[in-house]
Amino acid sequence: MRLVDIRGDEGIIDTGEDRYPIHLHFLDSVNVGDCVLVQLGFAVQLVERQSLSPKPNTTIAALRSEIEKQLAGSDFTVLLTSGTQIASLQLNGIRYTLPPNLHFAFGPGCPTCLTPVGYYRSVFELAQRESTIVVTFSDVVNMPTPGGTLHSLRMAGNDVRVVHSPYDVLRIAEWNPSKEVILAAVGYDIMAATVGITLKEAIHREIRNLSLFSSLHKRDVFLREYIFQSERTIDGVVCSPHDATVEGINSYKFIVQELNRAFSCVGFTAEEVLSGVVDIIRQVKTKKLTMHHGSECNCLKAGNTRLRSTINDVFTVSDNRWSSGKIAGQGKYILCEKFQDFDAIKKFDIQPDELLTMSGCSGRDIQLGLKLPLECPMFAKHCNPANPVGAAMISSDGLCHTWYHSSHKFKLQNNE
Ligand code: SF4
Repeated sequence: MRLVDIRGDEGIIDTGEDRYPIHLHFLDSVNVGDCVLVQLGFAVQLVERQSLSPKPNTTIAALRSEIEKQLAGSDFTVLLTSGTQIASLQLNGIRYTLPPNLHFAFGPGCPTCLTPVGYYRSVFELAQRESTIVVTFSDVVNMPTPGGTLHSLRMAGNDVRVVHSPYDVLRIAEWNPSKEVILAAVGYDIMAATVGITLKEAIHREIRNLSLFSSLHKRDVFLREYIFQSERTIDGVVCSPHDATVEGINSYKFIVQELNRAFSCVGFTAEEVLSGVVDIIRQVKTKKLTMHHGSECNCLKAGNTRLRSTINDVFTVSDNRWSSGKIAGQGKYILCEKFQDFDAIKKFDIQPDELLTMSGCSGRDIQLGLKLPLECPMFAKHCNPANPVGAAMISSDGLCHTWYHSSHKFKLQNNE
């Protein structure tokens, strides 16, 4: 997005259709006219102009032939880590036109799908308490729990609010001093950094009626665990530049150096994803594994030190868990000592049940790459986007959601 105005720590971006305010805390120096990468209401990277130049025009057909030629009949498995990249191949049916010996694994998936159902049930319970306002994000409000969704509570009159940026919670807390405002934040590193700067500002403004109930995780730790725990042999990993926003691309060098897998970081279009696939096949075939990335933008190679230092100031890490309850490495962000007063778990004495599951939902197996959505007996019958049973059917990055829309589309196209 292009910055068209700057006022202190805030800027205005022009999307081409509209103009929006954003926060500029995470950039060292920025000028009107610069292009910035925006996530959760914050500019998180200055995007260099040369990285926006058009990509070489390679067609899907040419990339498909190249894959076929390089594989020469041998089996190969690529792990796609970004829900948007998966959707690029799935929603328009390109995945089904690729050689059958090219296999895909999908994971570790969106953070809302990884979060245990027990967390969502605890948020649901918090929203039912007297004098609370639960502030969260659009996916979380629709998460099914055994008691219902936050959306259903909101319809019943409970105070549940949806925001675009964690920073919005400050205004809600200031305007409602007699209420306890609980931020329910689910996400990876970038969400942790934006929540972190919000809590620092809450201390600065002496806001005391605010607490954090979080499911925040280090993305690289989940990815490492996914590759370790996957029952499939993964030959190479395709990541997206968003994965590198905080730590930079080098945070993934363990994939090449420790796990001995090929790695490529590319954008979100089908052409870019297939270029990444071609690249990792070439790396494996030539036995030259590299940390390849398709972006010319230096900031994505280096990450953002302000995002990193905010996370380090506010959080420490403890054990991650898959939604099955199984430990998945030391990658769960928890508040450090200085920010303990914001901890909703202590303030409201809640204990999320990490083993709780939604009856009949195969989300855990899908998350670990053991099943595809079509193998879940509930898929498209009892579970669909209008009546979701599990998290993977809600988030637009969720595998079940993507599969539902692609299968629906193909049924219409084939008149089945
Ligand atoms: S289709 Fe629905 S019930 Fe089945 S795994 Fe996906 S989210 Fe769970």
